[in-house]
Amino acid sequence: MPSLSAKIYLDANATEIMRPLTKEAAIKALEQIGNPSSIHYYGRQARRILEDARRDIAHYFQRDADSCIFTSGGTEANSLALHALAHQDNRQIFIGATEHDAIKNAAPQAQIIKIAPHGLLCLNHLNTLLASKKWDKTGISAPKPPLICVMAANNETGILSPLAEISALCETFDAPLHIDAVQSMGRIPLPLARLKKASFAISGHKMGGLKGAGALILTHDHPLSPLMLGGGQERGRRGGTPALPAIAAMSAALKESTQQDWQPIKALRDMLEKELRLAGAEIIGENCERLPNTICAILPSINAQIQLMTLDLAGFCVSAGSACSSGKITPSHVLTAMGYGEKAGQALRISLPWCIQEEEVKKFAKAYHLMAKTILKK
Ligand code: PLP
Repeated sequence: MPSLSAKIYLDANATEIMRPLTKEAAIKALEQIGNPSSIHYYGRQARRILEDARRDIAHYFQRDADSCIFTSGGTEANSLALHALAHQDNRQIFIGATEHDAIKNAAPQAQIIKIAPHGLLCLNHLNTLLASKKWDKTGISAPKPPLICVMAANNETGILSPLAEISALCETFDAPLHIDAVQSMGRIPLPLARLKKASFAISGHKMGGLKGAGALILTHDHPLSPLMLGGGQERGRRGGTPALPAIAAMSAALKESTQQDWQPIKALRDMLEKELRLAGAEIIGENCERLPNTICAILPSINAQIQLMTLDLAGFCVSAGSACSSGKITPSHVLTAMGYGEKAGQALRISLPWCIQEEEVKKFAKAYHLMAKTILKK
């Protein structure tokens, strides 16, 4: 069990704590001296680790090994998906209003699909958008159907997207579907039987692996010209020597996280939510299906940065928005899209790591109560 030292880490959605078997797999790969592209003995040893990881990750998605392309993380996997499925294919892009910056900023011209106030992607709006135009899958008589790009689970609220329903709508209109599965991987099962035509972006460090590896899982043999030009790695689809230890760790982390029983984490999450409500917090998406480890809590009229700093001084690491935007004092675009107005600047994200202990949750609940009491009294 990793030691959490004096601080209590509650920011797993920014990066998950490394898992034990994953660490072993990373160390084993670190000891490999070869480059997987080399033909000699050491190259072949490294290549075997790379290809085993590719096979195991693709197998999870019920795809052939060739459908898995390794990248530097979730951001690059998402960019590569937009390139493969929209830019290269000359399609418009539709994205959910609460997508991560990795999608939002990579598709600035995208049509936004509304989010209902409770946080779920609005299927009616997606249907209206798709039905409002004529599409032609060959692109000859009308534009090709757009790429639909949605997240499996929101990084700030943990709210899950209705993927099976979205996929069914996409199929009706022959629209390709890309799923940013970065936060959901290992924490919840995906309805893969209903997502046979979708692509997925994943990231190693969100599952308890190392930072620096991700993957794009495409449908079998989807053509893809590289964004990163180089020595023809990844069958010419992504140049650059792959980060072998991080890739081996990602594969091991996927295995370890999917084997974990998340019920005890969910029970601790629910217990903590009760305490936060008693302290005056409003829980975002409390009636939606959510990741088992995530809480997004608004403490009315207290700026999130003040909450974050108070808790940090008390020894607790939480977040005031997504990891990539920490340091930025702008209110969360996710909560703004959900209609929270100025309350969007008063929300904290508490994301329990896989190895959280009940004692730690209780200590945090106490500190939160104290913070709420002290600040609200002033
Ligand atoms: N997508 C989502 C939903 C995320 O939460 C993140 C990171 O927070 C990313 C993509 C980017 O992943 P990475 O940090 O591996 O680039």
